[in-house]
Amino acid sequence: MRVLVVGAGQMGGGIAQVAASAGNEVLLNDRGLELVDRGLRTITQNLNRAVDKGKLSPADRDAALGRITPMPELEKVDADIAIEAATENETLKIALFKRLDELTPPDAILASNTSSISITKLAAATSRPGSVIGMHYFNPVPAMKLVEIIRGIATTQATYEVVRELAVAHGKTPVEVRNFPGFVSNRVLCPMLNEAIFALYEGVGTVESIDTVMRLGMNHPMGPFELADFIGLDTLLSILRVLYDGFNDSKYRPCPLLREYVDAGWLGRKTGKGFYQYSGPGGSIVREQQSSPNGVAAATATA
Ligand code: NAD
Repeated sequence: MRVLVVGAGQMGGGIAQVAASAGNEVLLNDRGLELVDRGLRTITQNLNRAVDKGKLSPADRDAALGRITPMPELEKVDADIAIEAATENETLKIALFKRLDELTPPDAILASNTSSISITKLAAATSRPGSVIGMHYFNPVPAMKLVEIIRGIATTQATYEVVRELAVAHGKTPVEVRNFPGFVSNRVLCPMLNEAIFALYEGVGTVESIDTVMRLGMNHPMGPFELADFIGLDTLLSILRVLYDGFNDSKYRPCPLLREYVDAGWLGRKTGKGFYQYSGPGGSIVREQQSSPNGVAAATATA
């Protein structure tokens, strides 16, 4: 199967890696060669790490890398399926689905890895709504076993079956959920992360104390701030906006502190700075962020 992956960031890179490792021919696209190369470098590092740990043979690493072709510009492409994993922005994704409709064969499936945006809306931008579907992988893609599959109102059974089988071939457990804002995963997770940010904003605890409460008290493997930074604060804010608008319910209003962090360009681990400070973009936690745009949070976060 030939898989076009659009977006070579955290998620697109991960999807390209699992697809190539499962034997798919992969075309990896982003906005220009530099971003595609950055994605390829991360994939190479991940596969090298698997070789070092003895989980992958050097021959299998080389074969997987050999199946990925960089595609710095979107152009006419002979793919069986496109998996869109670009930035979480409805306008951008609608424009991309229009382009993918023009550039892929008429019988190709167009899937989106969106965390929250309506699949029916993306499908309506194309001439093939029956072949449009949500295929929501989790971060980091090589490690996480779940794929949420979301049908739009017009998605056909045949499209669903192909995508379900592809998820299984990628070593994942597919779970079908309905096309509601945030689907299941982010409808449940993101309000919890937002509430943790409100607790920080109101001075109830510090980044570290709130993370420790949730790790040790709730047995979560990561605290909410570590997880929010890992997801990307821009992505979290976009999802909360989709939930807020989609349900018309104030309980989903994004915390002003989250909005301010995103305005500052503090997007979490991927930029090296979020609620924690990292050794560099994509690096490991050095310490809790010391400066906050909010006075209350700054006082408590550094206490
Ligand atoms: P990211 O910021 O790491 O990567 C997004 C990539 O999309 C960037 O490399 C950007 O250059 C690229 N891009 C933007 N516009 C593009 C265009 N027009 N054409 C091609 N590429 C374009 O973000 P991410 O975390 O990889 O998220 C990508 C998608 O996956 C989003 O829809 C997000 O909601 C979803 N998702 C994210 C997570 C997570 O934990 N981060 C989990 C599941 C799903």
